[in-house]
Amino acid sequence: MNNHVTVLEIDANAVLHNLDYFKQKLQPETKTLVVVKAFGYGSESVEIAKIVQDKVDYFAVAYSNEGIVLREAGIKTPILVLHPQIQNLKDIVKHRLEPNLYNFKIFDAFIKLADEAPLMNYPVHIKFNTGLNRLGFWHTDVPNIISTLKSSNNIVVKSIFSHLAASEDFNEQEFTVGQINNFAYIVKQIYEHLGYEPMIHILNTSGIINYPQAQFDMVRLGIGLYGFGNHPDVTAQLKNTHSLKSIISQIHLIQPGETVGYNRAFVASSPTRSATIPIGHADGISRRLGNKEGFVIINNQPAPIIGNVCMDMIMVDVTKIECKEGDEVIIFNHQQHIEYIAHKCETIPYETITAISQRVKRLVKS
Ligand SMILES: *Cc1c(COP(=O)(O)O)cnc(C)c1O
Repeated sequence: MNNHVTVLEIDANAVLHNLDYFKQKLQPETKTLVVVKAFGYGSESVEIAKIVQDKVDYFAVAYSNEGIVLREAGIKTPILVLHPQIQNLKDIVKHRLEPNLYNFKIFDAFIKLADEAPLMNYPVHIKFNTGLNRLGFWHTDVPNIISTLKSSNNIVVKSIFSHLAASEDFNEQEFTVGQINNFAYIVKQIYEHLGYEPMIHILNTSGIINYPQAQFDMVRLGIGLYGFGNHPDVTAQLKNTHSLKSIISQIHLIQPGETVGYNRAFVASSPTRSATIPIGHADGISRRLGNKEGFVIINNQPAPIIGNVCMDMIMVDVTKIECKEGDEVIIFNHQQHIEYIAHKCETIPYETITAISQRVKRLVKS
């Protein structure tokens, strides 16, 4: 039982609102895959899956363990494992997860396993690299893939997909359109020679916004579900899903010349009230937010973090804020605040929300 008072609230209605927002951008026949990797972008993958399962066609996770957690919680929706390893293939089959086969090493290993079992039409997905240069076959691998596929009827290709390298960046429009066109060409070759037509998909959140012509059969919605559109106009139409809250553990009144925290980094120049909050860098609050770079909200007012962020605590300046021990503290509850934190940490909201550690209790609000 996790009784920690620092809580990440997940807003189920906001999740549903965001899903609707993106679904309205899709052709009626386009399917939706929701990405719940990394604990549902730092929230809680099982809860997110339960909130949206009746409205989506697929889930995706990065690693097989993440898919097993969903299956063990009773999620029945198809689950694509984006980054399986050969060592995981048996577990993947055991839990009816669907592997992405991205090179011949894992492709051959899976066919061997499927033929030995035999598995009979086991669903798999094939990924092509069109410029991200992270995971995926090359277009020149198509003939080999086709002939290997034809040698076994123990696997069936459910989808062929690729991933855009810069879908949020207008300066890279030409490159992105090139990726989409190359992908379409690969798909055409496969359709001509395979004998059936797997689903195809390439768009992530920013892709849905910026390249609606490339929806193909399905889109992969990640960060957008969690309230970020990678563009201020889009984010403004989405609702915040992650609210991180805590309480004031203790308040100290300190005198000029006295200091707060490790290395005595904050030095009071006038009488100062300092509030201690039970959340620290081990919970995902970057040390870069110390020394007044970051702030929290107490009784609707911003309270700057003073001194260095500790592992388990931060101290904030509440000299001008009416508050007492036990009062609620909002670490963040709005996308703009999360973006501010990300900016201060020289990163992006993806990292800020996925950094919230598992020590923080998750609570779904519906
Ligand atoms: C994480 C991921 C996504 C989701 O991307 P967002 O930008 O969060 O929408 C889609 N596809 C793949 C392959 C991914 O790894």
